[in-house]
Amino acid sequence: MSLTGKVALVTGSTSGIGLGIARALASEGADIMLNGFGDADQIKQIQAELAEEYSVRVHFNGADLSHPEQVVDAVVATQRELGGLDILVNNAGIQFVAPVEEFPNEKWEGILSLNLSATFYAMKAAIPMMKSKHWGRIINIASAHGLVASPNKIAYVAAKHGVVGATKVAALELANEGVTVNALCPGWVLTPLVAQQLRDRAAESGSDLETEEVKLLAEKQPMHSFTSPESIGAMVVFLCSDAAQTITGAPLSIDGGWVAQ
Ligand code: NAD
Repeated sequence: MSLTGKVALVTGSTSGIGLGIARALASEGADIMLNGFGDADQIKQIQAELAEEYSVRVHFNGADLSHPEQVVDAVVATQRELGGLDILVNNAGIQFVAPVEEFPNEKWEGILSLNLSATFYAMKAAIPMMKSKHWGRIINIASAHGLVASPNKIAYVAAKHGVVGATKVAALELANEGVTVNALCPGWVLTPLVAQQLRDRAAESGSDLETEEVKLLAEKQPMHSFTSPESIGAMVVFLCSDAAQTITGAPLSIDGGWVAQ
């Protein structure tokens, strides 16, 4: 197990992509700090399952990362409870869809706070410890929407482009500190975040979810398949490996060809 002895904070890891990443890191021996919202019993069950299956320590921190001070608390709690922070995965994110002129201000502020600012505050809090150990991995979950746009997603697209930019800046500053910083840019992954968009589309068009799934994929991706959270987890594990030690500042697509067009 390549990550035994490392500690990872994965934000937004109570469901979807974050949970896939937490599981992949745990399967390589990393101790995990989970974060996110959800039913307390279900979260306890996830903790127990991962800890038992992979013989690692799995803690949970329920910080609401749209508040800067809670982002710092989550980083500090990881260091205090698990003895360090070697791998930071900034994954928590939300979506809201509306044309610019109808986009609610509070949705703009909320998406920017969580999808962009939390990444900044978490990196800021985590970097000193990584520098002192001369080893660290920061993986920011951006999106194909960090590289190209779609209509009706002004806040999400702006935030994800911001994440790609912030990733590059941190990578340059840390280039000779043993710390790499990269952004993953997934295409469609079938998680609760996308399931909500499918339900909205089906309600609007009067069709069923299966039809909307096929249409959603075909609109953007040459490859008509969803990426799985497991594949994204595997990519994160690779970025934590020695083989990836010179990959830094890169927006890495895992998107069925979305941005190749
Ligand atoms: P999801 O809704 O399944 O999971 C989001 C996670 O974030 C959950 O654990 C949730 O509890 C947590 N969360 C939400 N608000 C939070 C807050 N204020 N503080 C702390 N945690 C909070 O979504 P997902 O699809 O797994 O998305 C994960 C990331 O991947 C997001 O950044 C998203 O933008 C990105 N992404 C998703 C897709 C996709 O197709 N699903 C594609 C590209 C990028």
